[in-house]
Formats: sequence, structure tokens, C-alpha cells
Amino acid sequence: MNVVVPDYYADFACLQSACRHNCCIGWEIDIDDDTLDLYRGIPAPFGERLGRHISEDGAPHFVLDERERCPFLNEDNLCDIILALGEDALCDICTEHPRFYNEWSDRTEVGLGLACEAAGHLVLGRSEPMVLIGEPSSDPLLLLRDRLLAVLQDRTVPLAERLARLLAHCHAEAPSADMGVWATKLLALERLDEAWTGRLLDLQKRWECLDLAAFDRVIATRQTEYEQFAVYLLYRHFTAENAADACATFVVLGVTLLYYLGAVQWEETGQFTLDDQVELARLFSSEIEYSDENMAFFLDA
Ligand code: SF4
Repeated sequence: MNVVVPDYYADFACLQSACRHNCCIGWEIDIDDDTLDLYRGIPAPFGERLGRHISEDGAPHFVLDERERCPFLNEDNLCDIILALGEDALCDICTEHPRFYNEWSDRTEVGLGLACEAAGHLVLGRSEPMVLIGEPSSDPLLLLRDRLLAVLQDRTVPLAERLARLLAHCHAEAPSADMGVWATKLLALERLDEAWTGRLLDLQKRWECLDLAAFDRVIATRQTEYEQFAVYLLYRHFTAENAADACATFVVLGVTLLYYLGAVQWEETGQFTLDDQVELARLFSSEIEYSDENMAFFLDA
């Protein structure tokens, strides 16, 4: 099978104990059957510890502690399962995160999700246009997707124009420009992190009074961050299952939200760094992309 990856893929490295938003905090991780069988065969005392912290009520999963941490994430933010049993003993989800996979007729496409801050820096911090590594496809949908990627990466025109062309190519509607309405909709969806709720409430309150011309000057040399975000969203969500027009609208909405959330942060704090951009994208990704229900809200509409 042809496996396709973005050209930055091989550069990914987990930040491990240096990660500020460790993926082992706040997410209840399901354990696949093979790994569960492996854990059942581990002798005491570690096997006994595994048994105490795994629930088989519903899909087998690690039970988070009172601080919402994985029970095997130690105080140095290292994984006790890896320390005791090696990396091969991780369940599929822990092994794969933050990778995502899209299956096509003649290829598997793999990418790195922006819910991981290391991936965020890699994707949003690069200046060159993303290039896909792998054999070309003859799948008509993928050929269309590649044309759409080229539209988003055409640096001879401003990004706003590229987004308009993306919508036109997909016969898609532009999302409402009323960020207050979007903030209200997003506040009505499932939310995990209070930081996301705070950002949405600030957006709802301030979006109409923002000095966007001033913010545009701040980010004038940072258009590639928004391009990379748009390209990432298209690569991840333009699939055989998702309608092209809904996907294009979602891409444009995602970039617009990132822009406005950045403007709010800049007005509130007086600064807006790449770190801040990565953090906004991380919140967006964890709250929207990692919730089937929230994705369905955007892509099934
Ligand atoms: S979020 Fe990314 S960098 Fe942080 S611990 Fe998880 S995989 Fe590593």
C-alpha cells in the first residue's frame, strides 16, 4: 500500500516531560484488545497496578486520577508503562498519537494532529509550503484535493483571496462572518478545557470592537502560519466521507476563527507569538477535531 505523509512528518519528536499540554492529561484513553491481553499477562506487582487502573466498564480504558492525569503518568511526566515494559507495551492510541490516518482506494495518508504542541510547532512554524511525499494518485477526489491544496499554497495572491477561491472551487458557502454567532455555537458544543471556554467567551464579547487593522500589521509577515493551518485542515478533513463543500467551509471557518482568537489575545495581552498561535490551534484541534460530535456539527451540516 502506498503511504503518503507531509514532508515534515519524519521530523516529529514528542516533547515528553517538557510538554506543557501532555496528551496523557485530560483524555480517557481506550485500550485495544491486543494490548489489554498483554496487560492481563503482566505479573505482579506491575500487572496488579495495571489491573487497578483499567476500567472495563464500556470500552476498556485507563481511569484518570483526580487531577485528570493518566494513572501511569508519573510526577516527572514520564510514562511508567514505557519505563516498566518498554514502548512496545503501549496501547494503539498512545503509540499513534498525534498521528491521524485517512484511507483512500490506493493509499493511506498519514498526518500529525495539531492537538499536540510539538506537531503544532512543526506544522505552523515552517515557512516552506507543505509537500506530500508518496506516489501520485489517480483517484479523482484526490486529484481535486491536490488542486485545492495548490490553491491554498499559491503565494502570488493574498490568503483571503486563496480562501475565497477554495470556496468557489468547491461551490461552498462562505461561513457567516459574525464571530459572535460562532462563539455562541461553539459554546453550545461539547467542551473539554476551561481555557477554550474562556477564549470563546472573550471572542463573543470583543469581536466587534477589535482593531483588526492593527492586528493585521502585527501578523503581516506571518501569513504562512494561516496557510499552513488551512493546508493542514484540508489535508486532514478532505476525505471520501466528507462532502467537499462542507470541508471547504470548515477550512475557511477554522482559519477565520484562528485569526479572530489571535486578535482577541493580542488586544488583551499586547503580544501574539508563534507559541500563542500553536496554543490556539491546539485548543481548536483538541476541542473540535478530536470530538466526533463536534466534527459532525460542522461537516454534516
Ligand atoms: S502532546 Fe505531543 S509532545 Fe506532548 S506528550 Fe503528547 S505526543 Fe508528546
